[in-house]
Amino acid sequence: PLSFARRLDVVQPSVTLAMNARAAELRSKGEDVFAFGVGEPDFEPPQFVLDGARAALEKGVSKYTAVTGIAALKEAVCARTTKVRGWTPKPNQVTISVGAKHALFNLALALYEPGDEVIIPAPYWVSYPEQVKMFGAQPVIVETDEASGFKMKPEAFAKAFTPKTKAVILCTPSNPTGSAYNESELRALLEVWKKSDAWLIVDEIYADLVYDGFKHTSAATIASDLLDRIVVIDGVSKTYAMTGWRVGWSITPPALAKKLDVVQGQSTTNASAIAQYAAAAALTGPQEAVEQMRATFEKRRNVMVEGLRSIPGVSCRMPEGAFYAFADCRSLYGIPYNGKPIANDEDVAFFLLEKAHVAAVPGGAFGAPGYVRFSYATSEDRIRGGIAAILKAVEAAK
Ligand code: PLP
Repeated sequence: PLSFARRLDVVQPSVTLAMNARAAELRSKGEDVFAFGVGEPDFEPPQFVLDGARAALEKGVSKYTAVTGIAALKEAVCARTTKVRGWTPKPNQVTISVGAKHALFNLALALYEPGDEVIIPAPYWVSYPEQVKMFGAQPVIVETDEASGFKMKPEAFAKAFTPKTKAVILCTPSNPTGSAYNESELRALLEVWKKSDAWLIVDEIYADLVYDGFKHTSAATIASDLLDRIVVIDGVSKTYAMTGWRVGWSITPPALAKKLDVVQGQSTTNASAIAQYAAAAALTGPQEAVEQMRATFEKRRNVMVEGLRSIPGVSCRMPEGAFYAFADCRSLYGIPYNGKPIANDEDVAFFLLEKAHVAAVPGGAFGAPGYVRFSYATSEDRIRGGIAAILKAVEAAK
């Protein structure tokens, strides 16, 4: 018999795979599927990013770089962190990885071991608990609800700590809810965390995509005396529409950066050289394109949330950031579909896919059954079209 490492037995394969496969099947049959499931901007990266990559190519970038990244990119990360996040890390704190997901994975490898607990508020990005489990540690999920904006309350947070708590993972703005902690909310959570000796990992990958004048606050600016326990995760995927380039990073205390150097040194080595130059161009170039994309997302958010709210019974909180609307779809339970009543969020998502040709992600995947995540990283026209299709399908099914 084939023998595999047992560490993967506890890891969930992505539940969205079956849905993606069905959406692809519909598309291959020539059906027009509304892509509200995706987690990536539909834009192309700004022209100066592509120019930066081309210029690097001309100069020659076909060799290994330093394991943790080229100096120009690390310096660019520090400069941009100073400018837009309000605190100044040093290059020896920055580890460039193959996307933020890879940065988180390497961190998990460097930090977690059996017996450790990692606090993660729900709804959560799917990879957080799975990466924790992969290394034999235990995710400790803290539930939140829509009434409190899907934000963790300090009291609930405090209760989750035990002597085994190794780390806390916060994502603000959040995938999947789009909720973001304002300064006072973050301060209150940090007061709780300070009493522990756990690491605080903050995923800020969506922090440039915030709306209605919301001001993102970085934990590092509040707890500047505790930078030896704070880790920031960030990258170019969302802000610069560069998902396929695969560049992300962690900012950690230097001692942890040294561990990550060991991890990458024995696994991936450096992120692709040309991608690193492209990322450096993104961070140091004119930032108007970022603001344009942000403003476009804000308009789309309004259309998506308004549209979802127009579906009888569906409620949807106005998110502060990212590009997801997270809608309570429990009122659609009971609608007949496939010979039986819709009974959960997966049924809702499959109903939307089959009857409205709308691809979206069921909330159970994010630890929030009853909800469905709708990405608005697509044009306003497509959002309107998808909403109209949902309205029609719901009407026809009743
Ligand atoms: N963190 C969050 C919350 C995300 O939603 C994503 C992408 O979906 C990532 C990290 C990973 O981004 P990347 O690996 O493309 O840098």
